[in-house]
Amino acid sequence: MHSCILQLFMYGSSAFYEKLTRKRILNSIEKVERRCNIIMARSYQDINHGVSCILAGSPPFHLQITHRSIQWLLTNNYPVSHWGHLPPVEYETGHSPTMNGSPTTEAEIKKIWQKNTLEVWNKEWENNPKGMWTHQLFPTIQTRLQITDPPDFWTSQAITGHGVFGAYLHSRKRRCTQICNCGAPEETPQHIYQECILFSHKRPSNWEQTTTEHVKYMRETALELWMIENPNFRHRKSPRE
Ligand SMILES: [Zn+2]
Repeated sequence: MHSCILQLFMYGSSAFYEKLTRKRILNSIEKVERRCNIIMARSYQDINHGVSCILAGSPPFHLQITHRSIQWLLTNNYPVSHWGHLPPVEYETGHSPTMNGSPTTEAEIKKIWQKNTLEVWNKEWENNPKGMWTHQLFPTIQTRLQITDPPDFWTSQAITGHGVFGAYLHSRKRRCTQICNCGAPEETPQHIYQECILFSHKRPSNWEQTTTEHVKYMRETALELWMIENPNFRHRKSPRE
């Protein structure tokens, strides 16, 4: 669904992508994108747009739409008046394209534009004021893109910290205390995954970089917590387990 909605936005986008710099239009696209990401990752509803993009592992729609629109204009020999986050390219009949005054190739342009899109996404993520735990796990976009497994209900809770954690449930008035069963005063995701003695089994020792092994451990622990929180819950194993 995520890519279907993106394709819909991209349809004819070269006619309107310049307007993505207007806050009101950008907000309305981000609102739809956030919903798509939440549905795709099966995450809790109250994550912000930036966190939802990290969860989905996909650059924000506005960057992808801008990239695609400029590409379409160039392919169809239309002038480009707005380059957004991409470095401009100049075309002159009979000559190689030039970027920043130097000759270049189509393959090089593609590579630089993709790099730029990731850099701008990274900057947006660095400036995202929400998702402290997610920032801790994935300080950069590159660290997030190392994880290739798609998120599900359990990994989404683990990565966002919005889910079956005492501190979160307490903040949503769904638990009267945020104390962990081990006695620690706050059952935060960081406590559960990096400190709690009750979940030390299978815990990776080094948390400098979040790997597939960490995500697997966090996923299994979120499921375990869920079963403690909901004693009547019966878990059906997914093909990935
Ligand atoms: Zn604990």
